[in-house]
Amino acid sequence: MTAQLIDGTALSRQLRADVGRRAAALTAKGHQPGLAVILVGDDPASAVYVRNKVKACQEQGLHSVFEKYEATLTEAELLARIEALNEDPAIHGILVQMPLPKHINPQKVIETISTKKDVDGYSVLSAGETMTGLPGFRPCTPYGCMKLIESTGQKIAGKHAVVIGRSNTVGKPMAMLLLGANATVTVCHSATPDLAHHTRQADIVVAAVGRRNVLTADMVKPGAVIIDVGMNRNDEGKLCGDVDFAGVSEIAGWITPVPGGVGPMTITMLLVNTIEAAERRAGI
Ligand code: NAP
Repeated sequence: MTAQLIDGTALSRQLRADVGRRAAALTAKGHQPGLAVILVGDDPASAVYVRNKVKACQEQGLHSVFEKYEATLTEAELLARIEALNEDPAIHGILVQMPLPKHINPQKVIETISTKKDVDGYSVLSAGETMTGLPGFRPCTPYGCMKLIESTGQKIAGKHAVVIGRSNTVGKPMAMLLLGANATVTVCHSATPDLAHHTRQADIVVAAVGRRNVLTADMVKPGAVIIDVGMNRNDEGKLCGDVDFAGVSEIAGWITPVPGGVGPMTITMLLVNTIEAAERRAGI
């Protein structure tokens, strides 16, 4: 392997320690930061994500409220619960775990969360703030990817970045954050005819597809920074990313592993957003 590993676990540890210090300072002034996490239904993967988020909050001294509802919860009941949390002064961030049962409109749910508590950064207003560079909440996964890229010490300004994937939660905000950092950005997707043509020119590649081996060694410019957002299972059932790690790490300059790259950073940036929400409310 010639590439340097971008260690998301180590960077998360540093950032979470800072969250812990800021949480303690807020708590000492009577403003303990609080996150409410809502889970509707019995999706096992969602249950794991939610458990990890609540645990991460508790470890850094944040107050966390976990509410679990049956899949039969109505949309009106969920919206009423969110409105109550919007008014709760002990809660600074509200997260509703996706996906929701089919009878509940996710966008309606997201837009019901107070913009001051939208720590997932999924609302239309947060998307606009991300696009325009205004202060606000950045979606946690792309926000974490930016921190991983910055941790390499490589300049982003003037570089060519290729984002593979254009989802509203990862690919599109990722492209906006890179653009905001003055990269020249290309966004590729399932209708891009020759993906390799684009990735071979990239100084930075962010792969956010959800398919193994989307990026292989022959598609990478020597020395590039590679961020692998994908979460897939290989033939042995082990967690793997979108990038052929063994091959690409012989060509790239820096690379994130899966697991231990983007995954821990997503939860970390949720904590960072919650602390920022609490600091804003406390006028800090
Ligand atoms: P998504 O909504 O399914 O979007 C996937 C994107 O990939 C789409 O824009 C799609 O293009 C594009 N795509 C599909 N096949 C392609 C191909 N062959 N070549 C180029 N682009 C292709 O997924 P997502 O929510 O963005 O998540 C992407 C991956 O990241 C998933 O594996 C997910 O589990 C993972 N993820 C990880 C974290 C973490 O914390 N580690 C957080 C979020 C997501 P079209 O738009 O044309 O369909």
